[in-house]
Amino acid sequence: MRTLVIASGNAGKIREFQGLLQHLPLDVQPQPEGMDVEETGSTFAANARIKAKAVATTTGHWALADDSGLSVNALGGAPGVHSARYAPTDPERINKLLSALSKTSERDAQFCAALCVAAPDGSVLIEVEGRCDGRITTLPRGEGGFGYDPIFEVSGTDLTFAEMPLSDKKAHGHRGRAFALLEPRLRALLS
Ligand code: IMP
Repeated sequence: MRTLVIASGNAGKIREFQGLLQHLPLDVQPQPEGMDVEETGSTFAANARIKAKAVATTTGHWALADDSGLSVNALGGAPGVHSARYAPTDPERINKLLSALSKTSERDAQFCAALCVAAPDGSVLIEVEGRCDGRITTLPRGEGGFGYDPIFEVSGTDLTFAEMPLSDKKAHGHRGRAFALLEPRLRALLS
């Protein structure tokens, strides 16, 4: 069976991918302990590619990496690839974003998730991107989810990601959409 290494040091993310990939004939492994790849790209796709290539060439196995974040139109796409580092904690990140938008009614935003599978020779086997459009609320709403979920209202619903059942977020969210694009292509590569 082919090994696929998840290019992440985050145990939660590795578990999530192990669950999503469980129906495929793959031996899903975490990346080597202590490995830390710097995300120097200016797009989500570039960062996913950097991480997947680094882990694939280091381990000698196929590697899957993801990069995701929130882009706000009125802020020229910020926080974007800096979403995780926009401020030290989730509540501080939310407050900083709401303050930055306090004087504008343009609240359109998108969550994006890029996934990349790379081979040990550094070649890219698959690249996909999932997107979810929405608006930034004026106040946080909902208890579920993580990160910016309480201030992201999903287009076509009245709900923030934090108010939505997890199954709906998985189906309509950026990561779910990216994975839905990845799965058939991974299956085709394996057959
Ligand atoms: P990374 O993809 O692990 O580098 O994380 C990107 C950052 O984007 C996270 O730390 C969150 O701040 C934010 N983010 C990505 N996806 C979501 C989501 O589904 N909900 C809320 N915040 C998210």
